[in-house]
Amino acid sequence: MNALLDYQAPADLLKDRIILVTGASDGIGRAAAEGFARYGATVILHGRDTNKLDAVYDGILAAGGAEPAVLPLEFKTLTAELAKEAADWVEQTFGKLDGLLHNAAMLGDRSPIESYKPHLWNDVMQVNVNAPFLLTRTLLPLLRLSDDASVVFTSSSVGRQGRAYWGAYAVSKFAIEGLMQTLADELENTSHIRVNSLNPGATNTAMRRSAYPGEKPEVNPSPESLLPAFLYLMGKDSKGVTGKALDVR
Ligand code: NAP
Repeated sequence: MNALLDYQAPADLLKDRIILVTGASDGIGRAAAEGFARYGATVILHGRDTNKLDAVYDGILAAGGAEPAVLPLEFKTLTAELAKEAADWVEQTFGKLDGLLHNAAMLGDRSPIESYKPHLWNDVMQVNVNAPFLLTRTLLPLLRLSDDASVVFTSSSVGRQGRAYWGAYAVSKFAIEGLMQTLADELENTSHIRVNSLNPGATNTAMRRSAYPGEKPEVNPSPESLLPAFLYLMGKDSKGVTGKALDVR
């Protein structure tokens, strides 16, 4: 068991914290957002599918969590202007941001580089790299208003060691690691914002099932099992930890 999964969070760990989770409509992001709400956070739920986002919203309210907010945004067409509109809305609604979990991503094709479709390559890089960049840059002023802010990029083992047929997805995760390191270095001595990446490892979600259609889904841990690691990174106990590429398992 990895030490991150042994983390035991106090019940009020995230009280009064505003945390934006991208890709909160499904899989790992959904479990993280629901978990953050259970530990007191007010969560901003980003995704594309408003029906799924509404279901997460209803579930959090039904469980007694603080009222979340919903932020539907398609990342394939996200521009600097649309990202700014989203940040303006966060500012008007909440006035600051304490946590930003970059989790939304698309898998693209499992195919050799030689035959990787250029338009799909662009989509994967846009959703997995450009969109987190555009959101991060425009949300930084709101993160600076928190006295203890945390930015987490969701990575992958193929973003740390390239692997055949993982194409644009692997390359996008390498880019996320580079963005994390560069941003962490910029902010370390000039802000209260820590920046890290987390590789969740194989997890039973729609993305994993699509990447490994021959695998029994239940052999992989649930998205909910990752919660201690996300709580650690979003709460005060990870203060001072920055620029780290962390692994859950
Ligand atoms: P998932 O179940 O497929 O969920 C993906 C989420 O990203 C959904 O909320 C989806 O929104 C959102 N999303 C996808 N394309 C989008 C787009 N074009 N615009 C905006 N939002 C978009 O995936 P997951 O397995 O939970 O993955 C979460 C993170 O963990 C990803 O960064 C992934 O790379 C990483 N990861 C996963 C595994 C694993 O085994 N599952 C392993 C290593 C790393 P909608 O539902 O609204 O479309």
